[in-house]
Amino acid sequence: MTATRVGLTGGIGSGKSTVLQMLAELGAAVVDADAISREVTGIGGAALSALARHFGAGFITAEGQLDRSRMREHAYADPLARRRLEEIIHPLVGQESARQVRAALESGRHCIVFDIPLLVESGRWRQQVDRVLVVDCSPSTQVARVVARSGLQAHEVQAIMAAQSPRRLRLAAADIVICNEGLQLAQLRAEVALAARSFGL
Ligand code: ATP
Repeated sequence: MTATRVGLTGGIGSGKSTVLQMLAELGAAVVDADAISREVTGIGGAALSALARHFGAGFITAEGQLDRSRMREHAYADPLARRRLEEIIHPLVGQESARQVRAALESGRHCIVFDIPLLVESGRWRQQVDRVLVVDCSPSTQVARVVARSGLQAHEVQAIMAAQSPRRLRLAAADIVICNEGLQLAQLRAEVALAARSFGL
């Protein structure tokens, strides 16, 4: 049994989650690496003992999960710590993703969508997918959407955007681009359905 593996990515506020939801409604199986990574570092998660061993019990909260903000600061300040963190977490995320892929194949899904916000930045995902689907819109639309949704200020959204891959690199990595600009949701759904057909959905 084979299925088309699609890596879905896009900048903050581009509409990734909206497109993902539409693909799921069309029958795609969804593998969300961020959610898996939160799971393995959450209460009872498979990464906790290795994290405590390597970084110290101070990085685990009283509730028994990774202290995310402390680890974020530590990993931000120390590239070696960041690499070690990735070495602990990535294989576990890989194992769980592989398990979910097997389950999707066994249940006869034709398309598996991997939600990978940092696909272009990370590189390691590229060879694991058959197609890269990029959701794109103008930077001003990204800012407007995120401000409306989150209450962040425009300059804070712009700072997040500046830390992400430049738009042109994301577009260069794309096999298919969904241009989510000036579209009503129904029009977006039609664009997604068109792309979905080429993924065997
Ligand atoms: P993030 O990177 O922050 O997780 P995202 O790329 O997943 O964002 P979404 O959450 O899908 O983006 O979209 C951001 C906001 O814009 C949401 O509130 C969503 O409902 C809205 N939105 C996205 N596309 C459209 C559209 N075509 N028409 C109207 N609203 C839209």
